[in-house]
Amino acid sequence: MGLVLVALAGLVLLLIVGGVVLAIAKRSGATSPSREGPSPSHEGPAPTQKSPEVIFFLRFEGQDDEAYVRELASRHAHIGGASQAREAALDLVRAAPTATHAYCGPASAAPHGPGVAHSGLPGGLIVGFVARGRRPLDTADGRDLAAVVAELRKVSGWVDGDFAGAELRLAQASVDAPAPALSAVRKETRPGHQLCRYCDHAFLAHDTRCPNCGARAER
Ligand SMILES: [Zn+2]
Repeated sequence: MGLVLVALAGLVLLLIVGGVVLAIAKRSGATSPSREGPSPSHEGPAPTQKSPEVIFFLRFEGQDDEAYVRELASRHAHIGGASQAREAALDLVRAAPTATHAYCGPASAAPHGPGVAHSGLPGGLIVGFVARGRRPLDTADGRDLAAVVAELRKVSGWVDGDFAGAELRLAQASVDAPAPALSAVRKETRPGHQLCRYCDHAFLAHDTRCPNCGARAER
């Protein structure tokens, strides 16, 4: 009888120890970034929840793009109503296809607003745009530029009743800025682009051959 009790106690102890070991293994697995795959983002997947206030960051590189974005930012320095918010959003839609990095998430993630961006990349220019809606707005994964542009397009279609506020600024970027990190845009998600099925090179949608490997584009 005593032997059975000892055996039972041993079994219970084994189960407890096993459970603790499993729990620890699970935890370390969840925090390990190696499980996320070869994602260029350091923050994991971007949030895609709804928010009454959404902030966009778009980063551009190259003289022409930077000059265009500088001019765009000065033109939209004051947004006082739905029509000005529409124009600002539409100009960002026009500029967006050449963005290198993007973010589209709840504005609460960027307590210092559109003027402060989190990026450690040298050079380039980042524009921030915050849109406050009367109804909750959608957010998008910054790696998917087409999805970010789709959200900007929603703002570019605002009527007076949708508008609760908007602000557009050139953003100061720093690697430890209190703002969400921008994600590298997947090139094939740029509006007007397609991805080569043979070599993974992103190229213009109207090209019939991949400029990298020469494969015929398939429609
Ligand atoms: Zn190719």
